[in-house]
Amino acid sequence: MIGKVYLIGAGPGDPDLITVKGRELLALATVVLYDNLAAPELIPHTAKRVYVGKKKSDHAMPQQEIIRLLIEYAQQGETVVRLKGGDPYIFGRGGEEVEALAAAGIEFEVVPGVTAALGLAAYTGVPLTHRDHTSSVTFVTGHDPAKIDWTRVGHAETLVIYMGLTTIGEISQRLIEAGRNPATPAVVVQRATTPRQHTIFTTLAELPTIAEAHNLKPPATIVIGEVAALRNKLDWFEKRPLFGQTVLVTRAEGQGEEGNRKLRRLGAHVLDIPVIEIQPPEDPAPLLEALQNLKLYDWILFTSANAVTRFFDALFAQGKDARAIRAKIGAIGTKTAAALHTRGIVPDNIAAEAVAEGVVKAFENESLAGARVLLPRAAVGRDLIPIEFRKRGARVDIVPVYRTGVPQESVEKLAQVDQVNWITFTSSSTVKNFLALGGRRLLDQGAKAISIGPATSETMRAHEIEIALEAADHTMDGVIAAIHQPFPC
Ligand code: SAH
Repeated sequence: MIGKVYLIGAGPGDPDLITVKGRELLALATVVLYDNLAAPELIPHTAKRVYVGKKKSDHAMPQQEIIRLLIEYAQQGETVVRLKGGDPYIFGRGGEEVEALAAAGIEFEVVPGVTAALGLAAYTGVPLTHRDHTSSVTFVTGHDPAKIDWTRVGHAETLVIYMGLTTIGEISQRLIEAGRNPATPAVVVQRATTPRQHTIFTTLAELPTIAEAHNLKPPATIVIGEVAALRNKLDWFEKRPLFGQTVLVTRAEGQGEEGNRKLRRLGAHVLDIPVIEIQPPEDPAPLLEALQNLKLYDWILFTSANAVTRFFDALFAQGKDARAIRAKIGAIGTKTAAALHTRGIVPDNIAAEAVAEGVVKAFENESLAGARVLLPRAAVGRDLIPIEFRKRGARVDIVPVYRTGVPQESVEKLAQVDQVNWITFTSSSTVKNFLALGGRRLLDQGAKAISIGPATSETMRAHEIEIALEAADHTMDGVIAAIHQPFPC
């Protein structure tokens, strides 16, 4: 069966600006051909990714070759997505690609996208039309200024120039020669709608000097017209509290996207580097034995969501479920409690403070004398809980259900990071592993370290990491709150 090609606009940069339809079709794709303007995080991991990058200077693949590939994959029966930055039919050569598909008899659909002009209009505060200033807008390419009749285009009230950064000197001159007022307001916007958006407000005459002075690099788009002046009133994107700040999140296994999303919404550029990999314990025997003897225990105490996952995976693998448990259940905090909920268990005791001390405190009024306590946890962990519980007469079995390793692929990811403002540490392991991955360099370059709480801070001090902030609430939300309000009143 012959496949189909979906030509999809990825939007201008912010991955959330893709259409719902575009996102749904991407999820179905078996092959995705993308270029350098489409946000790579939009591409599902289930699809084969084919980079056909297109930068002005380094055409990774000639247009003919892209077209040949599209046809070939479709003929092989693949569901092909051709993902293009912005809108596929605005300076994207989407027209040519679809013409070729039509000629080859390949079925296709086209999904529009937010073109760079519209993205930057919203995100920089430059409405492209406005009753008081302009009633027409023109999109023009600056790729080859000699080909454009600037006497005709130049009088468009709002003029949006794509691909005009390197030719802006010539364009500005031709526009002024064609009679446009040199004092007309203008903006140059680099990497619009991304956390690295950079907007410069200037005038038509000053455009070339300004672009050079700021060492601007593509992709950048220029807007010339009275509306450009509205930016000073209508800017919101670059005013968000963490705009311009790069936050490196040393992600631990099981830590979701939620925290990163919150940081992004506050304007931060988030670098998400996994530093912990969860692996099965070296010796599975103690866990299997504990599962055999589950009925002997009076308490099972979970000190992480990972422990819950691994324990129940092993239990289910034996063909058993929560009914095999007679014991009461303890949880170290709301995250661990939530992991238990999804397995049909409401913990009997939840430590309000998600640290070992919190558990000891939460158990102050439980009778532990003679109690058998199962502690499924990481192979290496703090021993405060077993020590304190044993003092009170409990018999505690520590059973490793997982061990943590360092994901080697993060070495390279980290090596590519250049400049960072904040680094978040959410456990002692994230600190140690981050250093093992070569992260010290970023701290030496001035990145500020944030700790989730006292235990993590202790590890940081032991490794001579200066603690810029410690979260008052020992959760990722607490960490975000700390960055957001670094100077509490
Ligand atoms: N099809 C795309 C345009 C591709 S041509 C669209 O509809 O947006 C490439 C040009 O698009 C760049 O030279 C630049 O002028 C513009 N562009 C694309 N993404 C941009 C961004 N994030 N910020 C500013 N300009 C961008």
